[in-house]
Amino acid sequence: MFRQLFDPVSSTYTYLLACDRSREAVLIDPVMEQRERDLALLGELRLAPRWLLDTHVHADHVTSVSKLKQALPPGAQPTIAVGLACEADGYEYPLIDGERLVFGDEYLEVIATPGHTPGSMSFLWRDRIFTGDALLIGGCGRTDFQGGDPGHLYDAITQRLFTLPGETLVYPGHDYRGRRVSCIAEERETNARLAGKTREEFVALMGALNLPRPKLIDIAVPANKQAGALIQG
Ligand code: FE
Repeated sequence: MFRQLFDPVSSTYTYLLACDRSREAVLIDPVMEQRERDLALLGELRLAPRWLLDTHVHADHVTSVSKLKQALPPGAQPTIAVGLACEADGYEYPLIDGERLVFGDEYLEVIATPGHTPGSMSFLWRDRIFTGDALLIGGCGRTDFQGGDPGHLYDAITQRLFTLPGETLVYPGHDYRGRRVSCIAEERETNARLAGKTREEFVALMGALNLPRPKLIDIAVPANKQAGALIQG
């Protein structure tokens, strides 16, 4: 079972995966403003979340992982988790590279993809990978705040993601132009930031982007370090 959900305010994709037999589920990058939608969907599909995951500490929206956990019916015992190097105290479980998160008969594999932030993780499930803000469709996450490092991002994308089978589906953390999915071969060949670029060229390109500071960063980053638990409402 698989759903790709969208938050139009932050252009964030949230992913729901589940084991058909056990009804155990995983949510990746759920957004605070969409938590009623997500709770309703979990109820409708009779799913019990096992893992509530964030790919990293987000700067553009607040995570709903803590609030979702509190609002779930008794019986569901999800673990809220984010990468160890995110140094985010509000989470219960620090994810490390290479581990497998089991939900029913399914599992996803954690792949460290630092660079956008030091703790950014991607999640591989069956034929698809959820890349957060490491690899985006035709682009990649910025590296100019939150401990970002363009050299690390280049290494993570070229050595960890582009080495996956070409047909692996790429489901990003955001898209601002309505694109929903890509694949590794397409990104390897056509990604405007990475295709045909050396590490030095990529680092120079990322250093020259001069992007505006995200509007919500001063609210979202401290709130997300606490997994969104202290937000009122
Ligand atoms: Fe991000």
